[in-house]
Amino acid sequence: METRRIRGLWEREGDRGELRFVFLDRDGVVNRKPPEGDYITSWDRWEWLPGAAEAIAALNQAGLTVLLATNQRAIALGLLSEEGLAEIHSRMRAHLEQRGARLDGIYHCPHDRGQCRCRKPETGLFERAFRDFPAANPGNSVMIGDSLPDIEAGRRLGMKTVFVEGPAERNKPGSVEAARLAGAVVSSLVEAVGLLL
Ligand SMILES: [Mg+2]
Ligand SMILES: [Zn+2]
Repeated sequence: METRRIRGLWEREGDRGELRFVFLDRDGVVNRKPPEGDYITSWDRWEWLPGAAEAIAALNQAGLTVLLATNQRAIALGLLSEEGLAEIHSRMRAHLEQRGARLDGIYHCPHDRGQCRCRKPETGLFERAFRDFPAANPGNSVMIGDSLPDIEAGRRLGMKTVFVEGPAERNKPGSVEAARLAGAVVSSLVEAVGLLL
């Protein structure tokens, strides 16, 4: 696996050292994304992407704060409850812990399209995180995601962005645009973390 392009991720020498907060999208970055229109509605549908937990552990060990920012429209659609999502995330955290990895915060949007200010590409999830972590700001944060709304949200705030390009057959509409807009394009979280550290 090779980084296909790094453009504008580190504009100046020293930018890398300023990075302190890493925002991760969930589906397609940490765990295998279900087919378009399908959702992770229970833990038995969860499949880790190879090396994802170890990549999060590497970020932890480097002293970076790692935050999840995930759209969970399945809740708006009635396919998943808040409790069901909390259960999935509790299991995810337990598995991460076993591998020496930790998420410092999880932010999710339970809403449908066009209903709120937090569903990415809106920026509400990040603004909440910036309130919870006063040391965080767009200048010392990066967003790693596998869809155009992830990259758009990061760019709206002026964060650095890394696009995780999925397998071609799984690529969403907007992938080409996301790859064009992102500061870097990689094929996995493992590769993204290699770039950041
Ligand atoms: Mg995703
Ligand atoms: Zn929302």
